[in-house]
Amino acid sequence: MTKLFDLSGRTALVTGSARGIGYSLAEGLAAAGAGVIVNGTKADTVDAAVSRLREQGFDARGRAFDVTDEQSVAAAFAAWDAEGIDVDIVVNNAGIQFRKPMLELALADWQRVIDTNLTSAFIVAKEAARRMIARGRGGKIINIGSLTSEGARATVAPYTAAKGGIKMLTRAMSAEWAVHDIQANAIGPGYILTDMNQALVDNASFDAWVKSSNPSQRWGKPEELVGTAVYLASPASSYVNGQIIYVDGGWLAVL
Ligand code: NDP
Repeated sequence: MTKLFDLSGRTALVTGSARGIGYSLAEGLAAAGAGVIVNGTKADTVDAAVSRLREQGFDARGRAFDVTDEQSVAAAFAAWDAEGIDVDIVVNNAGIQFRKPMLELALADWQRVIDTNLTSAFIVAKEAARRMIARGRGGKIINIGSLTSEGARATVAPYTAAKGGIKMLTRAMSAEWAVHDIQANAIGPGYILTDMNQALVDNASFDAWVKSSNPSQRWGKPEELVGTAVYLASPASSYVNGQIIYVDGGWLAVL
């Protein structure tokens, strides 16, 4: 019988994995047997993350590139082709936040957030899926959504639009690629303790709001997303497609 959650022999690219949620997902996929490719915008932090993974005995390599830059993404995949590295699993995790009321929001800032959180998933998945289809062995695409894939909050309009878009882009990927045995799904994390949220954790009223809105009454930890990522990267999810799974401590389940 297929080992349901075994990722041995697979290679996973996790974008934005030099730190935060992406690092934890890379570590978790590696622990499940995958070779992992770490990415971020800076070579030194990517290299440091690769070293941390290798110290644990994991198969890890890295490449710094900007996921919004189509040429850089294409060059990365071309380099892996030349090295004989097949990316079987893609986690579109890289993302940024930018808080400003819409009436004060510059178009350039709107565009930057949309490009990083939404368009990047299209750019990276397109390069990966083209190769998965040519190889004929299927593949896995995991996009990172958010609670804002479902609900809006003031001051984060482009992030909300991008994460809502991630939910529908995931369905669009399934519509076109499921026939090629590619499963495209998304994870919607609740509020997770990472650099992105440090200012919110330090804000007593926001911290209290997170704890009171959520039946778990606490922030999530990056490693709590690993189980869902391994499931969606593994043979266990071979007939799961176009879904977004919320890992939010129960937030969206309650009033
Ligand atoms: P962090 O800010 O801790 O880390 C973001 C990572 O993305 C960094 O490694 C960063 O690289 C990378 N990155 C940003 N822009 C680019 C780019 N253009 N090209 C390549 N890499 C890039 O964020 P989190 O770990 O908190 O968030 C990860 C994902 O999870 C995001 O998509 C976020 O929207 C989502 N999410 C987070 C939640 C949370 O509560 N933290 C909740 C819901 C969703 P570098 O290190 O070089 O800056």
